[in-house]
Amino acid sequence: MGIFRHADYVELTIHFRCNLKCEHCMIEDTMDRLEPASDEKLFELIEYNLQHRQWKGLILTGSEVTLRSDLARLATVARDNGFEHVRIQTHGMRLADPQYCQQLVSAGVDEFFVSVTAADEQTHDAITAVPGSFRKTMRGLENLDQLDGVSILTNTVMTQRCYQQLPELVDLLRHLRRLVQMDFWNYWPMSETDDKQLIVSHLELLPYLRTAIHRAQDYGRAVEVKNFPECLLGADHLALDNTQPKLFIDPTFWPEFHRNGFHQCKFRDQCASTNCLGLNSAYIQEFGWHESHLRPYDTDPREVGRASKNMHSASPHLSTTPQTNSQSSQTS
Ligand code: SF4
Repeated sequence: MGIFRHADYVELTIHFRCNLKCEHCMIEDTMDRLEPASDEKLFELIEYNLQHRQWKGLILTGSEVTLRSDLARLATVARDNGFEHVRIQTHGMRLADPQYCQQLVSAGVDEFFVSVTAADEQTHDAITAVPGSFRKTMRGLENLDQLDGVSILTNTVMTQRCYQQLPELVDLLRHLRRLVQMDFWNYWPMSETDDKQLIVSHLELLPYLRTAIHRAQDYGRAVEVKNFPECLLGADHLALDNTQPKLFIDPTFWPEFHRNGFHQCKFRDQCASTNCLGLNSAYIQEFGWHESHLRPYDTDPREVGRASKNMHSASPHLSTTPQTNSQSSQTS
């Protein structure tokens, strides 16, 4: 579970151009059609929040927002009008310029959500299709790490190309003092099929992911996992959080997104998890339903966690352990 409450943040897509060509990009087919939010929309949102104080943080996102020459100005307007935090989502290449980093931080950007696709230059640059991108992103992270008041989050999309490197990636970034959270997003193709063959079997990915979670936590990082079956994560299931900040995006994005067909699972009707997205259409087509591996919960593991917290001690009769399949079929 991450350390940032998603309900405290609002996300606005202000730019749909990018100078990388990441093979896992969710919006590569729609980027040319999606309309970024206008400045008027941004200022309306800022005005609304000034009156209602609904969100503490504003996330500026879309594709690569550092390509906007007025990014620093937008951050300043948001901070001057009540937002306690401004986060940008970025591949981090422009941050290789220390003056640019300083400019953004002075303007009010205090949280940087940086995409790092792999643990080595060769793999990262192959994924982004831009030679030299790994070095620039790494330099950008180093530059950010020198600046007071900055929080760094990283995001790694787990695909066939990089999943075996997850623990090494955690090690690679170990020295960054301002890295507070690592996100691991399990790839989905924004389509009914995995045309690029990037999806990894959950069963193959699991040991690498769990090792990465443990290692990152050992190094003092929060960890957030997206789009992985909750029951497969065992004791690490609390790292899964599929909630997101309130997102304002061109509405034509959503029909494309829903092509994924999330929430499919043979046990969906009997499983009490409210957090799990189950499987999606492309995954099932490639790897099947994993009936013999999935373990539906008889109690929502989040509720159990909350109840335990409220009681200030773990109740001995409450368990977050998923049912075995045989248990579930006995009770159904
Ligand atoms: S059994 Fe429950 S937790 Fe497991 S994949 Fe299905 S819906 Fe998710």
